[in-house]
Amino acid sequence: MHGQNLIDGRWFDGATPFTTVNPSDLDETVGTYSKVGEDEVREALAVARRAQRDWAGRTMQFRTDVLRKAGDLLIERSAEIGNLLSREEGKTLAEGIGETIRAGQCFHYAAGDVVRAQGEYYHSMRERMNVLVTREPVGVVAVITPWNFPIALPAWKVAGALAYGNSVVLKPSSYVPGCAIMLARVLEDAGLPAGVFNLVMGDGRATGNVMIDEADALTFTGGTATGRAVLTRAAQTMTKCQLELGGKNALVVLDDADLDLAVDIAANGAWIQTGQRCTGTERLIVTRGVHDAFVERMTAMAKQYRVGHALDADTQIGPVANPQQFSENLQFVRDAVAEGAQIAAGGDAISARTRGLYMAPTLLTGTQGHWRCNQEESFGPIAAVIQVEDLDEAIAVANACPYKLSSGIATTSLKNAERFRRESQAGMVMINAPTAGLEYHVPLGGRAPSGYGPRETGASTAEFFTESKTSYIHHGAD
Ligand code: NDP
Repeated sequence: MHGQNLIDGRWFDGATPFTTVNPSDLDETVGTYSKVGEDEVREALAVARRAQRDWAGRTMQFRTDVLRKAGDLLIERSAEIGNLLSREEGKTLAEGIGETIRAGQCFHYAAGDVVRAQGEYYHSMRERMNVLVTREPVGVVAVITPWNFPIALPAWKVAGALAYGNSVVLKPSSYVPGCAIMLARVLEDAGLPAGVFNLVMGDGRATGNVMIDEADALTFTGGTATGRAVLTRAAQTMTKCQLELGGKNALVVLDDADLDLAVDIAANGAWIQTGQRCTGTERLIVTRGVHDAFVERMTAMAKQYRVGHALDADTQIGPVANPQQFSENLQFVRDAVAEGAQIAAGGDAISARTRGLYMAPTLLTGTQGHWRCNQEESFGPIAAVIQVEDLDEAIAVANACPYKLSSGIATTSLKNAERFRRESQAGMVMINAPTAGLEYHVPLGGRAPSGYGPRETGASTAEFFTESKTSYIHHGAD
């Protein structure tokens, strides 16, 4: 795949070429792309500004039809896009196809938002007045995305922005640009007018800075450190920001849990998708009575997964997505062991039929909540067990961590579940379900420093992608 940046309907190469490599097979180059410079990013933003007014002025029917068609095309092309996604990011093929279908569903949801978007009417306190609250597009939306969901994540941000009449400049992660190109083609084929959606590949900081300075709003997903840099920069121009950042999600397992279910959801949250979900489970907080049995079952579970090439039919867990993350994962385990953690399963690189970035599902035991391994995000197939006495201590440990994205509890007691739901400080709480696994029609996100600004998706979409206008209308004497 060659190229490509898209500005005002024109595809072109930037000055700085780069390639992506298949994490399942480091001997395979997946794509050759090119980064643009700051001038082209400025041009993309200027084009988007011109195109936005025309897009917002199109009929609702036209806009909803374009978004619905984009959703249809993503689903139709899910095998092709899913294959590219698996080769570039390392998700299994089933996961890659599933993620692409999810991207299509996000566009379908957004198509509905176009026709659902409403204002509010109020009676006035004064005579012969009424009050209208309407929503207007924010304007030009910059979208910056990470590598772990290369199609669904850009899709729900772009679909939400377009639904409310905004134009977009997307900068995908430099590790996985292929799917963003596929998305751009889908939008062209769906009939989106030129310039409403623009795609640039670029260096994260340089491109990001121009986007923050010149766009009206920025929706960003990535690491918390990057999010802080973005927010600091955005403070200068007061650019509206929505940041979805890191997590260190805890699953509490109580003595009264259904153990089969607890192991199932813990393993899913910790290791599926190579642990590379921001909502993945990294801390397993387990009460004393069930601790040993839980650890024994989880250890056996970790060892039975088939880790391998993302495109192999029998692979359950694909490789780590890139060399940097791979070495950070292994270093994370070494640091945890230095702190006193024991390795019950995994902890190391493993080999498969190709030269890939394969890491065994890893279970650390004997850890404590305040240790670094339970305070800092790992973003790999690594979970650490913390033994506690009871629900009180479990809640305290779960909340005693800077990240506040997702949390969960395994229990058969409605009373315990409800107490945890109320007292957990995470933005999303799962009862007897994995900490990961979100639906696209409800809000997504966490409290700072896991998130900042309005939540994403569902009813939150309108909150971020529009500006509210309150109008007082005096309609004269009768
Ligand atoms: P990064 O923060 O490294 O990068 C995210 C994006 O930001 C990339 O497109 C990157 O570009 C760009 N970028 C880098 N520096 C800057 C900057 N100074 N200003 C603006 N943009 C910049 O994250 P990763 O790609 O490594 O993704 C993993 C992280 O994302 C994890 O910490 C994870 O928890 C988080 N995440 C959070 C989610 C959530 O919903 N809360 C969901 C998914 C992931 P380039 O690639 O060119 O460097």
